Amino acid sequence: MLRLPQFELAQPRTLDEACALLVEHGEEAQLVAGGTDLVPNMKHELFTPKVVISLAKVAELRGVRQEADGALVLGALTTLEALAQDERVRARAPALAQAAGLVAGPQLRRMGTLGGNVMLDTRCQWYNQTYFWRQALGFCLKKDGSACHVVAGGAKCVAAASNDTAPALLSLDAELVFHGPAGARRIAIDALYSADGIYNKTVRGEILVEVRVPATPAGHRGAYGKLRERGSIDFPLLGIAARLDLSADGTVASAALCAVALQARPLRLKKAAEVLLGTRPGTADFEAALQEAGALAQKQCHPLDNIPGDADYRREMVPVYVRRTLLAAAEGSGPVHHV
Ligand SMILES: Cc1cc2nc3c(=O)[nH]c(=O)nc-3n(C[C@H](O)[C@H](O)[C@H](O)COP(=O)(O)OP(=O)(O)OC[C@H]3O[C@@H](n4cnc5c(N)ncnc54)[C@H](O)[C@@H]3O)c2cc1C
Repeated sequence: MLRLPQFELAQPRTLDEACALLVEHGEEAQLVAGGTDLVPNMKHELFTPKVVISLAKVAELRGVRQEADGALVLGALTTLEALAQDERVRARAPALAQAAGLVAGPQLRRMGTLGGNVMLDTRCQWYNQTYFWRQALGFCLKKDGSACHVVAGGAKCVAAASNDTAPALLSLDAELVFHGPAGARRIAIDALYSADGIYNKTVRGEILVEVRVPATPAGHRGAYGKLRERGSIDFPLLGIAARLDLSADGTVASAALCAVALQARPLRLKKAAEVLLGTRPGTADFEAALQEAGALAQKQCHPLDNIPGDADYRREMVPVYVRRTLLAAAEGSGPVHHV
């Protein structure tokens, strides 16, 4: 049995209290929301914080609301289950509701939060292991060692972003509100993630308070496609979020395609999305654009052997999932997932 290392638990009731605790304990502290990722990671001694600051009692992080202009404001403590079931999210941001509904399994979705998912640690087969396992191999670049076991001689960690909601939030141009010692600030989600597998967030020592999803137009369509080993619980081997905004005549006025589980940051597949513009779902033009989008996406996606699933197979599945997810978006169906 794996045991948790010793730690002190702090349970602030306000954002300011939580922030003050973060400042007081600095690098020795770690935030926890649902704990569905942090707790296993602590058991694997990937993180050994002296102080764990629970956000569970901070009321300012709760709730989902819709603003007058149609924007959705999602509290960081919103559970993935609540997000997947929320009618406003399903109607206005279907890719996000679908992605949340495919994270892990039901128990984890009831505990796991949106904030924890956005801030999820990157994953690698050589990293997400017990201390004993990692020690036997001399550890790795991401934690306790100096060698990368994925890329021989690699100086940069390539652990993969594996959070299902990230590509959906990118496709929706979401913004994130953080609270830190200098107060609150809002950043575009594109600015959060970096290509550094060791720590792929540009924001540290701050608390994610809410995720803001700008209003989507009446013709908005979205879907999420997830390739995974088992339909029941696994992290993505590949995740594709598709967005199509249709104009009144049914043609694609704007489009986005975003992917996860390929490299340290979730990816925007811009060229692949562009070929869909001006086409109309159900026509030969749209069909041709689906093929082209798949080929362009595959050109941009280079999975590594750092998470389960053969990398060549995952690459072959890129055009398949791009096509299926775009079709699901166009039809207003989805999610797309392998079971
Ligand atoms: C068996 C298993 C399968 C899983 N499958 C999937 C999957 O398919 N897809 C997927 O995306 N995830 C998966 N997960 C990971 C996890 O369950 C989810 O990502 C979940 O959303 C994490 O949320 P949490 O609240 O539990 O995060 P926590 O574990 O509490 O925290 C995760 C990280 O986020 C930080 N954090 C949390 N909240 C905040 C905040 N408000 N501000 C700043 N930092 C914060 C924490 O410090 C920590 O570093 C799986 C986990 C397990 C154990």
